[in-house]
Amino acid sequence: MARPQTFRSKITRVVMATTGSALLVATVALLIDEYVSHRADTAQRLQVMARVTATQISAAVVFKDSRAAEEILTSLRADPDLAAVAIYALDGTEFVHYLRPGTRPVELPATGRGRSGFHGGIFEHFEPIIVDQRSVGTFYLRSDLDRLRIRMAMNTTIAVFALAGAMGLAVFMASRLVSLVTQPILRLEQVANKVTGERDYAVRATQESDDEVGRLVHAFNEMLAQIQLRDDALRKAQADLEERVQARTVALQTALREMESFTYTISHDLRAPLRALAGFSRMLLEDYGAALGATGNDYIAKISAAAKKMDALILDLLDYSRVTRQEVKIERVDLNQLVGDVLRQMDPEIRERQAEVAVDRPLPIVLGHALTLSQTITNLLSNAIKFVAPGVKPRARVRAMHKEGVVRVEVEDNGIGIEPEYQDRIFRIFERLHPVETYPGTGIGLAIVRKAMERMGGRSGVESEPGHGSRFWIEIPMPADGAPPAPAA
Ligand code: ADP
Repeated sequence: MARPQTFRSKITRVVMATTGSALLVATVALLIDEYVSHRADTAQRLQVMARVTATQISAAVVFKDSRAAEEILTSLRADPDLAAVAIYALDGTEFVHYLRPGTRPVELPATGRGRSGFHGGIFEHFEPIIVDQRSVGTFYLRSDLDRLRIRMAMNTTIAVFALAGAMGLAVFMASRLVSLVTQPILRLEQVANKVTGERDYAVRATQESDDEVGRLVHAFNEMLAQIQLRDDALRKAQADLEERVQARTVALQTALREMESFTYTISHDLRAPLRALAGFSRMLLEDYGAALGATGNDYIAKISAAAKKMDALILDLLDYSRVTRQEVKIERVDLNQLVGDVLRQMDPEIRERQAEVAVDRPLPIVLGHALTLSQTITNLLSNAIKFVAPGVKPRARVRAMHKEGVVRVEVEDNGIGIEPEYQDRIFRIFERLHPVETYPGTGIGLAIVRKAMERMGGRSGVESEPGHGSRFWIEIPMPADGAPPAPAA
């Protein structure tokens, strides 16, 4: 992964690129200028020299005095630019020549005629030797421009060193300048890190200048001040809210406890006058039954039935209250034993309704509260054999199966079934679908089932089709050690 570029490296690069390219352009321009002007100087100087020499040697050429001519040519050897000089007679034959010692072998022009100027890497000049306005021959000179080349090579080397030195200096200066800009930004970054790391909005960055960075620091501090204000307000609001929720929870819990204890006391205390009512009705019937006649006896029977109904309602309310209030200690419960006990207790009711109850054994072990579970299964079985169409023999079946870490216990019946829209409602307290005359009851049984399952960390529900029976189910947590002996769902 590419490393993120720092501000310092970016600025240094920009400075190096700008300085480098400016210096390079300037150096190249200087070198070109130097080359061009030096070439022009050399050409001019050699031309002047050729003209002067042509005049000096004219007499020697006219009198064909080769010694004098050679002497004059030899005097030219001091000039470092000259590689070769020669004198040609008018007919183009070479009269005399001189080659600088140590120069590369050169071929002199054959006829003494040619074009003056730069050719390739050399400079040549043909100067006519004039006597009395008549040409008597040609003076030829040639320079191999070695001096120009050496000079240019030296200049280039000096330029490269100067360029490198200037770049080094630029980088050094840039790094000093960059520090001036980056230091305040780095300090700002440290403050920002402290704010995010420690959530401390009280810290502030120091503003050291009035430039752009200084203004940035100022804006950053302003922003921190605003966040700090909001943070304080938020904290206060949160603390207030927590306090209010706490106070309300306590008040609600107290009210709930008072309400539950009130319901329990009322339900409990109501039974005493009811028992008196039933007792005195019975005594009235026994002692004065004959005197009261048929109508009187009927009234007493109604009072007695009403007292019984009321007692059943109170007993159910007490059960509901107990399931809600009592401590539910979760432990391992063997359903085989529990269902067996429930069936034994329900035996009179089963016989009375001439019902048939089948249990698919073996049943598993579950995690629950035995008393509450037994109450739950009693309620479900009691409903299963109660809500059957007239004349139909009630048949109920209990079975259990595994389902995703829970045990599902089902109580199936051949009863009247429940319309889909009522299937959830019937689990609410006092919700009944039939008049007491058709099917007696208080409307509390399934509310106890739901509450009991909630308290044991389970669930409850029903699947049913009107006229085709119902299947009530509860789901109870399964013990972690080993699967209970029940088939998977
Ligand atoms: P209760 O049995 O005292 O009436 P429940 O809370 O046990 O009260 O049941 C509420 C209602 O749900 C019943 O009145 C009945 O209408 C319906 N119900 C419960 N169990 C069954 C069942 N097995 N088949 C059909 N309807 C049922």
